[in-house]
Amino acid sequence: MSRLCLILFGAPGSGKGTQAKLLKQSLGLPHISTGDMLRERVARRDEMGLRVETILQAGLLVPDETVNALVAERIEQPDCLPGFILDGYPRTVSQAEILTGVLKSRAIATVVVYLKVDYNVIVARLAGRRLCPVCGALYSLSPNAQTVSEVCDYDGSKLVVREDDRPEVVTERLKAYERQTSPVLEYFRTAGVECWDIDGAGMGGPLAIAKRIEIMLREKGYRG
Ligand code: ADP
Repeated sequence: MSRLCLILFGAPGSGKGTQAKLLKQSLGLPHISTGDMLRERVARRDEMGLRVETILQAGLLVPDETVNALVAERIEQPDCLPGFILDGYPRTVSQAEILTGVLKSRAIATVVVYLKVDYNVIVARLAGRRLCPVCGALYSLSPNAQTVSEVCDYDGSKLVVREDDRPEVVTERLKAYERQTSPVLEYFRTAGVECWDIDGAGMGGPLAIAKRIEIMLREKGYRG
């Protein structure tokens, strides 16, 4: 079976992180989230963390070279040998070009899963999202989700609004998505990369969506 790079693509709040966590379990592939990696660096307060902190707070994109370097280093780790799941990367056409070169040179098969979600649903989801400041678990307070209390199921910490989920920052993130990230899908389609459109707000919720992706991957022979 070939090495697989599964790219989860979609607007902020489309469910990339949720799907990545579910698929990581069922496919047995590591989950690489550039957002998580950047937030870790901010928390560590190392040189990169200090450099990107204000960019994240403003909802803007971190320079391509910074994220390209993070991802290039990460995918060389031994756990990425069977393949990996990318969440939040690539987010610009330039990042996509760099990644395409890396994947080609290593003969890694690529599938892009585009989680299509209506703009109004995205805005509602982000407004209702809460974060555990201790373990990083994300919760949804949106009407269709299971109701959750305002404390973390895992460690009982009081949930908070993620810094960049504040309404004024959400607007900037959605603008950045429209302007810089949405053309990436067209780039992949034009380059002949396999792209699947998946309803990211469909019936059955996140579990049903993950199942569908898993079945499609198996049908196409990407995972056994
Ligand atoms: P979301 O997809 O919900 O916006 P992420 O956790 O993926 O959340 O990203 C949070 C922030 O991290 C982004 O708003 C951006 O500032 C930064 N970031 C993440 N991935 C990238 C990337 N590939 N290129 C540039 N900036 C990124």
